[in-house]
Amino acid sequence: MPYCYQIEADRCKGCGLCVMVCPKKVLELSNQVNSLGYFPAYQARPADCIVCAICCTMCPDVAIRISQVAETEPCVGGGRVGSK
Ligand code: SF4
Ligand code: SF4
Repeated sequence: MPYCYQIEADRCKGCGLCVMVCPKKVLELSNQVNSLGYFPAYQARPADCIVCAICCTMCPDVAIRISQVAETEPCVGGGRVGSK
């Protein structure tokens, strides 16, 4: 079953903690500012994500959400990762 990976860009303060802890180097900071004036994180290489959820656990602003979704369920504002 795939997962829906969402980073709520407007909660992100661009601290880069998730980028640093990701073991697969999936994440990067955007070069476009969010509504708070920060450069938010995004999945630059989603195909490499192993859905370990370390980024999600580490984010001090609870901006990252990973949820299991059915094949037919939409992943609004995010992208599908994994298929286990
Ligand atoms: S779930 Fe794991 S592999 Fe995927 S982006 Fe987060 S830290 Fe990286
Ligand atoms: S850890 Fe959270 S607040 Fe920091 S860059 Fe990543 S998503 Fe944004």
